[in-house]
Amino acid sequence: MSSSVCPSCSNGRKYTKGGFFGLFGADVEVMAGFYEVMIERDFSSAHQLRGYKGKCENLHGHNYKVEIFARGEELNNIGLLIDFGDLKKAADEITRYLDHRNLNELPPFDEELNPSAENIARYFVDYLNSRVGDERVKVYKVRCYETPTSVATYQID
Ligand SMILES: [Zn+2]
Repeated sequence: MSSSVCPSCSNGRKYTKGGFFGLFGADVEVMAGFYEVMIERDFSSAHQLRGYKGKCENLHGHNYKVEIFARGEELNNIGLLIDFGDLKKAADEITRYLDHRNLNELPPFDEELNPSAENIARYFVDYLNSRVGDERVKVYKVRCYETPTSVATYQID
């Protein structure tokens, strides 16, 4: 199977000889795509929002859920984007740190960042990319649920 940019146009779309696994028996146009995997993790923590005028400035707790999305255009040599186990292991390093704690006492949420769902989502993205991200695969999105109906997302390009 070979893949190349169509010589008759310059829109960046790729032609694949014979289609995926040669199933179509002829040259077909395929859109450039990417693979995505997602894992979920949860933890229970207390927090209070500094500078917030309302009940969320008081210490209270959430059963947080995070959805962690990784993506990339190429698989590794055994056909995986990323091993689910490796991603879970790295995510568990964070949830172990946050679980059953007051987030306002834990760096970077003690001074640098308010422990909002938005900042927690970004914290996961940055930390996980430092642990498991590389040129091929990136943790590009995390959704942090404070409740089943309230979720904040941080996403990189
Ligand atoms: Zn809250």
